[in-house]
Amino acid sequence: MSEVSTATVDVGELTGPVRGPVSVPGDEGYDAGRSAFQTAAWHRPDVVVSATGPADVRAAVAFAASRGLPVAVQATGHGMPPAARGGLLVDTSRMTGVRVDPETGSAWLAAGVRWDQVIHEAAPYGLAPLSGSAGHVGAVSYTLGGGVGLLSRRYGYAADHVRAVEVVTPDARTRRVTAESEPDLFWALRGGRSNFGVVTGIEIDLLPVARLYGGGLYFAAHLIPEVLAAWRELTATAPEELGSSVAMIPFPDLDAVPAALRGRLLAHVRVAFLGTAARAERLLAPLRAIGPEPAGGLRDMPYRDSGSIHSEPPVPMPYHASHALLPELDDAALDAVLEVAGPDAPRPQIAELRHLGGAMARPPAVPNAVGHRNARYVASMLSAVDSSGLEAVRPLHRRFRAALEPRGLGSCLNFLYGERAGVEQVRTAYEPRDYRRLAELKARYDPDNLFRLNHNIPPA
Ligand SMILES: Cc1cc2nc3c(=O)[nH]c(=O)nc-3n(C[C@H](O)[C@H](O)[C@H](O)COP(=O)(O)OP(=O)(O)OC[C@H]3O[C@@H](n4cnc5c(N)ncnc54)[C@H](O)[C@@H]3O)c2cc1C
Repeated sequence: MSEVSTATVDVGELTGPVRGPVSVPGDEGYDAGRSAFQTAAWHRPDVVVSATGPADVRAAVAFAASRGLPVAVQATGHGMPPAARGGLLVDTSRMTGVRVDPETGSAWLAAGVRWDQVIHEAAPYGLAPLSGSAGHVGAVSYTLGGGVGLLSRRYGYAADHVRAVEVVTPDARTRRVTAESEPDLFWALRGGRSNFGVVTGIEIDLLPVARLYGGGLYFAAHLIPEVLAAWRELTATAPEELGSSVAMIPFPDLDAVPAALRGRLLAHVRVAFLGTAARAERLLAPLRAIGPEPAGGLRDMPYRDSGSIHSEPPVPMPYHASHALLPELDDAALDAVLEVAGPDAPRPQIAELRHLGGAMARPPAVPNAVGHRNARYVASMLSAVDSSGLEAVRPLHRRFRAALEPRGLGSCLNFLYGERAGVEQVRTAYEPRDYRRLAELKARYDPDNLFRLNHNIPPA
């Protein structure tokens, strides 16, 4: 828990300047304002301001600053830090404007926009954003946390394609921040995310991508070791046009799960290829030879359908996650994955390997704070927390991390959730020099650490 609330906050002064709902514990609407995709531990603030636009955000920040109330921000609750107790939560989920400018190949996204909305608005112009595996993730937080997209090996991190950021800083000023106007703050926001204020909108590049060849191949549990070995071979030499990942998934025995997958542990190889089907199939031939299941498949598709590649369910749930950024996939790393998610795992969890590198390994045109560009893979483990509770899976996560962290480079901010997102873990998301610069800039822009109910970088 980040804070312990002792306050009863008189919100009378907020109701004039704020158009959106303002609620305190016990009010009708309080739970709607703080509800999150991650259901394991919602924030429990003293006040929720469900902002309708930048003016509401400015009023909320001014109110919090004048009372020394720490501020949290939430769009969808997919990437929550440790749950806040007390303080003021700015809920941006009502700020859902998207404006595409096909002339400049860019889009303006308000703070609460989700990727599927951006994909939908961009598609008619033959354009696509650097969105990730799930369309229900919030676009602004994803982008400012780095943003590993389906096409990132070809184009770089989403944060590398930000043109401008509009942010309300702790002094309750709205600033439009660009490389020219405030270069330090522009550098820090792209990677440092929530430490410098509430971002009310961002302007991003869209990419000239209308279609791709992709989808998913499923493999039976006993083939997992062979699939992992073949995927490692594939990714060792894959061109930048090929984005891929492999997940071991113990599908629950539920009606909502397609019958062919229900109740089975399977490997799921996900592919997003910018090129012809024939070229993709030549690259994937060794995996095909292992013998995928009839369920799944690859096809030429509009980028609009890219959410079907990972097929992650949009259903809120409680989860616990661990991950490590890796410079290579050695045998010990594959063994760690097999131990928690292989065919002999006593209680298989979801484990995933994503291929990084390519354009993500190169410095962007305008430098930013995103760390560990030398990472080639991210290995993660995700557990749905069921009625047996977090304690039932914690030891498995500890073992996974103990095996991977010593051979790892650190963390990726976007994959640090819940209790794994404390100050020390957040520090590991950055190069030491960049972390020092972020902490110094934090001292300049937020010396009192008003924005601390987050993936926090304390002021230096
Ligand atoms: C199913 C799933 C799939 C994912 N796929 C990918 C992927 O493919 N690639 C990838 O890189 N990541 C991925 N992620 C991680 C995701 O990008 C991060 O968790 C991201 O922070 C989620 O943003 P959100 O707005 O949805 O979540 P939220 O929980 O609402 O936001 C997370 C944090 O960001 C900060 N924040 C939110 N809005 C603002 C704002 N307006 N101004 C300042 N700070 C703000 C807050 O501190 C907040 O606690 C995935 C996560 C999930 C659960």
